[in-house]
Amino acid sequence: MVNNIEVLERGPEKSTLEQEKILQIDNLKKHFPVKSGVLQRTKGHVRAVDGINFYIKKGESFGLVGESGCGKSTAGRTIMRLYEPTEGKITFDGEDISTQKERHLFKLRREMQMIFQDPFSSLNPRKTVGSMLVEPLKVHGLYKGSKERKEKCQEIMSRVGLNPSFLNRYPHEFSGGQRQRIGIARALVLEPKMIVADEPVSALDVSVQSQVLNLLDDLQVDFDLTYLFIAHDLSVVKHFSDRIGVMYLGNMAEVAEKTDLYDDPLHPYTQALLSAVPRSHPRERKRERILLEGELPSPANPPNGCVFHTRCPHVMDHCKEIEPKMQEVKPNHYVACHLYE
Ligand code: SF4
Repeated sequence: MVNNIEVLERGPEKSTLEQEKILQIDNLKKHFPVKSGVLQRTKGHVRAVDGINFYIKKGESFGLVGESGCGKSTAGRTIMRLYEPTEGKITFDGEDISTQKERHLFKLRREMQMIFQDPFSSLNPRKTVGSMLVEPLKVHGLYKGSKERKEKCQEIMSRVGLNPSFLNRYPHEFSGGQRQRIGIARALVLEPKMIVADEPVSALDVSVQSQVLNLLDDLQVDFDLTYLFIAHDLSVVKHFSDRIGVMYLGNMAEVAEKTDLYDDPLHPYTQALLSAVPRSHPRERKRERILLEGELPSPANPPNGCVFHTRCPHVMDHCKEIEPKMQEVKPNHYVACHLYE
């Protein structure tokens, strides 16, 4: 699928939209080399992210969804510059950060933070919570004195619902939900503008998932945060996002306002994903379950034309040859599918 960012920017309110954007992603690609043999020669590439375009407005919560292996987490890490982009442009707060060297990313490291999926492995088991929170403050030269830094850490602890006296404890002394709160505290302590949350509740018990989601919701208002919220579960994203992008095999299939996407999904892949989401209210329209045939193709060898054509119930001959362009089919509703051309 070829996604055309020019189309995404069309409309009379373009200049206002430009001012509102905090993140703009243009044709972002991340390919990983596949090596084999004794000499470890490159035999091909895994096209984990293969040319995606989207933007996020300040204060917005943008959900990036798709099944496992669609490239959404790689996209998040590439945007954070934890991975080097293969191609494309990442503009954060008006600055092109896609080609900056690590030493120039200091400001970005403060202003964009990440919450990881697994609260067990993302925390250093040998460090107390206090030292994990103080370290970034020291690195960025904030709150010069140790007393001020400790007070800041205590304040963040209570803000995420943890007892400030727990600063001396180690990660193994906490439950899964508490550990994710520590991960959130670590992301928040530098008061970033934006947080990339990569499946932040999927490793947690269902009983604590909603507590953590509610916390993230409250923090967004209190800290004036923008979220890129990555998830495979559409029902989680539904309650959390203002707009949603649906990814399939490294490509963006559809981008729309949340209600529009749920009420009127246009891309056959989005329709299939949504058909599997249980109704949250008896009056909600019942969807007929759409079962996709076949497996997700390998991103090392994606299909020609529309990458979804091997599983699409509406496939046409030209879908197998020609990549569909992303186009605005309804106001602020974009889809990459030949059915709408
Ligand atoms: Fe892709 Fe064609 Fe199906 Fe649209 S109809 S999703 S272009 S295969």
